[in-house]
Amino acid sequence: MKDKVLILNQDFSAIAVCSIYKAFLLVYLEKAEMITRSEAGALRTITRTYPVPSVIRLQRYVHVPYHGIALSRHNVMRRDNYTCQYCGTIKNLTLDHLLPRSRGGETNWQNLVTACTRCNSRKGDRTPEEAGLKLLRKPIRPSLQYFLKMHLDTTNQDWGMYLGVKE
Ligand SMILES: [Zn+2]
Repeated sequence: MKDKVLILNQDFSAIAVCSIYKAFLLVYLEKAEMITRSEAGALRTITRTYPVPSVIRLQRYVHVPYHGIALSRHNVMRRDNYTCQYCGTIKNLTLDHLLPRSRGGETNWQNLVTACTRCNSRKGDRTPEEAGLKLLRKPIRPSLQYFLKMHLDTTNQDWGMYLGVKE
């Protein structure tokens, strides 16, 4: 069963993903309304049947401070889909500074990629070009929408219209 629910702000902008349990609670407490039902079916108690939400919308507008996604080891790996950005493996992952720190490389979204220990040590104190390594993707600063879209493949397709994804 698909177990994630997309939360929309009052203005229908996507702001988060939560569990079905939390979504139920928000709807039950009348903090949110159900926008789309999940195809996953319904939750049944002895006396009642509750449709499972796929998208809910907050009743009141919530100010989401716009300072983006926090730069962290976890979030860099998440952005890179937990794959080494040089060879594509998913094992023994570390973070690599494209321009090494020892050479003044900064710790930011554009200079950090997920790399396996093997590629990382092969690269050593060099840039990818110097080491003859090619990046699978150019590292970007991810937005909240970017992370929400990553859920799309595995969750409900009816989220697409709220995330600006053409269907
Ligand atoms: Zn690698």
